[in-house]
Amino acid sequence: MDVLIRLGAPSCCRVHELGTYSFMPTTDVVVIGAGINGASCAYHLASRGLDVTVLEKEPAPAMGSTGRSAAGVRVQFTTAANIALSLYSLPVFRTFAERYGHEIGYRDIGYLLLVPLARWARHLESVELQLSMGAPVEVLSPGEARRYVDFDPTGLAGATYGPWDGVVDPHMVTLAWVEMARDLGAVFELGTAVTGLRSSGDGWQVEAETGIWQCSHVVNAAGAWSGQIGALAGLKVPVGPKRIQIFMSGPIADDRTYPLTIDLSTGVYLRSEGDRVLFGLDNLEQPFGFTEGVDEAWLEHVLLTGVDRFPWWEEMGVDLKASWWGYYGVSPDNSPIIGYHPDAHGWIDACGFSGHGIMHAPATGVAVAEFVADGRASTVNVDHFSHARFGTGVPVEANIF
Ligand SMILES: Cc1cc2nc3c(=O)[nH]c(=O)nc-3n(C[C@H](O)[C@H](O)[C@H](O)COP(=O)(O)OP(=O)(O)OC[C@H]3O[C@@H](n4cnc5c(N)ncnc54)[C@H](O)[C@@H]3O)c2cc1C
Repeated sequence: MDVLIRLGAPSCCRVHELGTYSFMPTTDVVVIGAGINGASCAYHLASRGLDVTVLEKEPAPAMGSTGRSAAGVRVQFTTAANIALSLYSLPVFRTFAERYGHEIGYRDIGYLLLVPLARWARHLESVELQLSMGAPVEVLSPGEARRYVDFDPTGLAGATYGPWDGVVDPHMVTLAWVEMARDLGAVFELGTAVTGLRSSGDGWQVEAETGIWQCSHVVNAAGAWSGQIGALAGLKVPVGPKRIQIFMSGPIADDRTYPLTIDLSTGVYLRSEGDRVLFGLDNLEQPFGFTEGVDEAWLEHVLLTGVDRFPWWEEMGVDLKASWWGYYGVSPDNSPIIGYHPDAHGWIDACGFSGHGIMHAPATGVAVAEFVADGRASTVNVDHFSHARFGTGVPVEANIF
């Protein structure tokens, strides 16, 4: 049986006979997944002069977690490693239009963290770290914080506000990188699910229903599905899916744009979305797996948990039809894995971002391109995100939401 596949970069492709396939294009790198991280990797790899093919199972980019996020970007982390990822990435978002000529919907609406007494001293230590690294953060009294959004300050010691923090439009960012990568010769094979991976010589054969790609490097940017992709190659990639739900209010009568506000005593968060409020809370009891749908019992729990801090929720309607769910790709410490797999040559993981995969996509793409082109990442130190860190006692990020 001859199978027709599109040869995106004919000048670099060889044609082979392999089993039932008539063609086996060669490319330097196959990136699996066209979410925001796959797109960032593709662009940065192509800008280093590498031939890149992206295989995506869905018919369009950004249809995985990327299209379902809350779109927040922030510098307010507790570990130097995560702050460094943000300090590289946020300026890229802030200047994307001038740098690349693409609008990406960045708005500096800020993140406002409401901090309880018990956490205040530790929180201020992380603020010191952020400031010492050049991250802009303001320390506010509860009264000062209330100029942004109304809340009951009971039990709170203070708040912090990140003026660079805010939101981007993840679809626009992803599509910008896809277009920029295509302009540099990268090929995106959409509707192409990877079904097999074989180590071959000093590279890989990546198999989908429509063909087999031969490459020297595989980049696993398959988000919540990255553990499954690893398993196809017989590799342990400790990333699994966890359902996260976001709820939408009805229209509210307040002209202010609420920052992405997180009550650190409960984990409840909210931000403005037009004249509505988007809100949620991570369900720590939620079992891992590809659980689907919006759970009304969880909505009730979120409302009951949040109403003490935000008493105006009493009057807030909820638009269930506008609410949604998606998956975090979760690693054992809720931080990403960015780097070579220890048990495989030419295999790079860029996954396990938990709730931070939008905000750290610029740094991830640069690091992955440097791994392939230079053998090591130099622009941003991603040692902290290697496979080797697990179980070694490296500092674990506390600002996980
Ligand atoms: C409700 C919610 C709120 C969030 N809020 C934020 C936030 O405010 N800020 C933030 O930074 N992050 C947030 N996140 C996390 C963020 O969305 C993810 O970390 C990020 O989108 C991951 O991007 P990715 O490109 O790595 O993965 P994805 O966007 O999931 O892309 C992976 C791609 O791989 C493809 N794929 C899977 N299997 C295969 C296969 N076999 N063959 C080919 N392709 C395959 C999938 O179809 C998918 O398109 C949130 C997530 C959710 C669910």
